[in-house]
Amino acid sequence: MDDPLVAITRYLVIKKLAGDVIAIMAVKEYLVDGLSPSTIGHKYNISKFRVRGYAQRIMDKARNHLVAQSIVKAIFPYILNIEPIVLKVRGRYICLKCDQQLTKARIEHHIRKKHKELVDQLVTQIAESVKRRRSESIV
Ligand SMILES: [Zn+2]
Repeated sequence: MDDPLVAITRYLVIKKLAGDVIAIMAVKEYLVDGLSPSTIGHKYNISKFRVRGYAQRIMDKARNHLVAQSIVKAIFPYILNIEPIVLKVRGRYICLKCDQQLTKARIEHHIRKKHKELVDQLVTQIAESVKRRRSESIV
């Protein structure tokens, strides 16, 4: 199994490249800020089950609430800085990297398959920055 830091970073990097800011905010507000799924769901107009679903994907990778919380907290600012590569135009989605039109359901698959290098590069960058900051704070 993947390093939880790398696995969670990859999950959220793909969400941000896809332009899914709501999933990222939901995960952060649930795991880091401790808001309830129904509060978050109400705020972003999604179901509380969806909020739990996003958080569960993170928990599956971390296997521990405190680990999930500290990883999401550490990577959150870096994730927010990533520019989405998918643009929504009148209900359609266009990949800015390759000009391909996508359906909503295919966006993440497209990013994982066609832009793997970009994903890998961002994940490595973020994971290394977080590890560097962790080792500095111990000293
Ligand atoms: Zn593309």
